[in-house]
Amino acid sequence: MTFSAGRKIIFDMDGVITSEERYWDAAALTAWELLFSVNYLGLKPLATLPPFKTVLSAPEIALVRRAVFCEDKVISFFKQQALNSNWDLAFLTFAFQFVSLLCDLASRGIFLNGGVEVWGAKGITAAKLSLIRSFLPPDERDRWEPSFESVLGSWPQGAKGAGLAAKLCRLLPPRYAQILGDCSSTSLSPLWKDVREIFQQWYLGEQKFTEIFGRKAGASGKEGLIYREEPIIEAPRLKETLSRLKGLGWELGIATGRPLSELLSPLERMEIRQYFHPGSVVTYDEVVKAENALRGEFPNISLGKPHPFPFLKAYWGEEKNDRQLAAPGPPLPQRRMCWVVGDAMADLLAAREAGACFIGVLTGQSGACNKEIFAREGAEVVLPDITFLPDFIAKYS
Ligand SMILES: [Mg+2]
Repeated sequence: MTFSAGRKIIFDMDGVITSEERYWDAAALTAWELLFSVNYLGLKPLATLPPFKTVLSAPEIALVRRAVFCEDKVISFFKQQALNSNWDLAFLTFAFQFVSLLCDLASRGIFLNGGVEVWGAKGITAAKLSLIRSFLPPDERDRWEPSFESVLGSWPQGAKGAGLAAKLCRLLPPRYAQILGDCSSTSLSPLWKDVREIFQQWYLGEQKFTEIFGRKAGASGKEGLIYREEPIIEAPRLKETLSRLKGLGWELGIATGRPLSELLSPLERMEIRQYFHPGSVVTYDEVVKAENALRGEFPNISLGKPHPFPFLKAYWGEEKNDRQLAAPGPPLPQRRMCWVVGDAMADLLAAREAGACFIGVLTGQSGACNKEIFAREGAEVVLPDITFLPDFIAKYS
């Protein structure tokens, strides 16, 4: 085995370099839209939340997020289960309420009309949620209220990352067993694909969504949370940090769950794109491409973090092919040649599997609460933020 990929530091993006706040807003608004918009489930609006609309003020967005994620406790919970994708966060948050509604009705002997012939053998789509709404007895539609807090206490034990969706499906009453589709990998569920679409419309806004994807957004008027993004570290300090690391002889890479289209604009806005080696930047796009190419051989393939694939691909670049990096027993970097900087459990688990040294930073969602758990799970060091990195890494340079 050769180790010609050299010495690299691979960064996670959100919670390390960029803020994840607007993605969490998008996830909350997506779940809220699916529950309360008449285009979908159309439940009776909660007295504490605005009725569904596409243009919201910052305080209204904050109100929806506080309610849907219970002061962000739901986000922390899923992060601790190594859930990395905010599309999964939106999907699981909505799907949990949807499953709870079906279970509640079934426990009282109320079953919806239709079945596979209505929602399809591969599972329900978002558009068909309005059909579900039409099957609900009107008093049930107005009576049932989501309990956002319940996601924290009712979740089946022992599930991690992509396995959470499969666990959720097992809670469904038998006659609805296929309603969420094949949940062995969330991206196989038609509802998950629609959740991602609605999420992207909130995040990008109607105009940018249409520019990127070449199709109209479902509900018009969304302005785009991307325009409200704020950096974690001011650009000049960030540039100085990255420049010092390069000066110490390290090549820098990125492994992020963001699509490339959502990575380049913040990198360019902060003027830091040139610090990262293009062959060491791995986004959602590369992960999906590899999953699609390898699905024939590995049907339940899921290569996003906490799978080590994104970090291994960022480390090896073109030197190893996707199959080598995705299959069991992938080629690992030589000890201390690959360092991973992340803010979440999914990063730590993926780095550990990738044979990389993990550096935890406390600028992510759980903040300082992660310090102990990172240390316990084998982080080499835990730093307040990435500006502390050059002084630490100098010892290994
Ligand atoms: Mg992160």
